[in-house]
Amino acid sequence: MLAVQGDVREHEQALARLGVRTTRVRRPDEIAAVDGLVLPGGESTTQIRLLRTFELLEPLRERIAGGLPVLGTCAGMILLADRILDGAPGQQTVGGLDVTVRRNAFGRQVDSFEGDVEVRGLDSRVHGVFIRAPWVEDAGAGVEVLARVDAGPAAGRIVAVRQGHLMATSFHPEVGTDARVHALFCDLAGAKTSEER
Ligand code: GLN
Repeated sequence: MLAVQGDVREHEQALARLGVRTTRVRRPDEIAAVDGLVLPGGESTTQIRLLRTFELLEPLRERIAGGLPVLGTCAGMILLADRILDGAPGQQTVGGLDVTVRRNAFGRQVDSFEGDVEVRGLDSRVHGVFIRAPWVEDAGAGVEVLARVDAGPAAGRIVAVRQGHLMATSFHPEVGTDARVHALFCDLAGAKTSEER
């Protein structure tokens, strides 16, 4: 777990439900030691600033380039994106995922909402909690779309993607007790869950 800011505990609990061992990453040597990383939701401008302060940004970019499996949720999706729209002035990202994300995309009136989403690879819908969430405005050819909003004004918008060892969701799969999105990530990361041990 990247633990500079955001909802670290909820992700730890979701992974614990799967029997996956987690550690918190705040130092460069800790990045070197993990087999996979979750970038939690929170505030992307704060997170990128703290990544710089803690000298984690370059080591993280290097590990992503080297194939580290990463799950980014909400602000974490923004961090993983190569391009960002409606970011804060000069806002940078970690990058790696060939997408353009629109920050706070769902608009001011509907800051936050919940809705069920069909996620590719799961046999029934996931309850999606969206909190000032981004969406994927554009995805490169190598990016697999895992979920789109299927009703309402944002219908058709991409809210979950995967590209090789990288996965990102606009919504918060760590909220509640359904850990299936985390399980998908563990499959991709090759992590051992308790069922497989
Ligand atoms: N709007 C936030 C940002 O830009 C993301 C919100 C979230 O992670 N819940 O960083």
